[in-house]
Amino acid sequence: MVERLREAIRDVHDFPKEGIVFKDITPILADAELFRGSIDLLCATAGGTKVDKVVGIDARGFIFAAAVADRLGVGFVPIRKKGKLPWKCTEAAYALEYGEAVVEIHQDAVKPGEKILLVDDLLATGGTAAAALKLLDGLGAEIIAVSFLIELSFLSGRGKLGSHEVKAILKY
Ligand code: AMP
Repeated sequence: MVERLREAIRDVHDFPKEGIVFKDITPILADAELFRGSIDLLCATAGGTKVDKVVGIDARGFIFAAAVADRLGVGFVPIRKKGKLPWKCTEAAYALEYGEAVVEIHQDAVKPGEKILLVDDLLATGGTAAAALKLLDGLGAEIIAVSFLIELSFLSGRGKLGSHEVKAILKY
């Protein structure tokens, strides 16, 4: 399954700007077996630990995280780009592989001590996931694992994620 997933990912050169090779995961989403396979593999990154919630990062992270939450039978929590969540939020700023952004989480989305699986589609420089972890740390979450479908290892994003358990299905 891992190799089938790898073959399905489409490299799009110079998107969204010159020099970036964008990993397009839409061919995985469009194929029932591949999508299910990717969710199976992401669920397994929890290592059998019972998690309380799955947290996903705006926007492609939602697709995977919500399906993982449903499969694990737990709730889903979104971390969104600034200005999208309607209730009281805490925020964290970060630098992207391309550009800059601020992410937010609802203050009551995670309770202190809850066991969290954090999911995103891709780990690049690690700025996004590091900001998400800062938000979750601020709410007192216990991070079980930080899981990605894709890791761009050459960007060393793991280095920004401290001592957390970082899992990736596909590494480049
Ligand atoms: P970073 O903060 O640099 O780790 O960037 C990770 C976020 O940006 C993820 O949410 C990805 O969806 C997106 N991203 C960054 N680089 C790429 C890439 N080369 N291909 C696809 N998505 C990317």
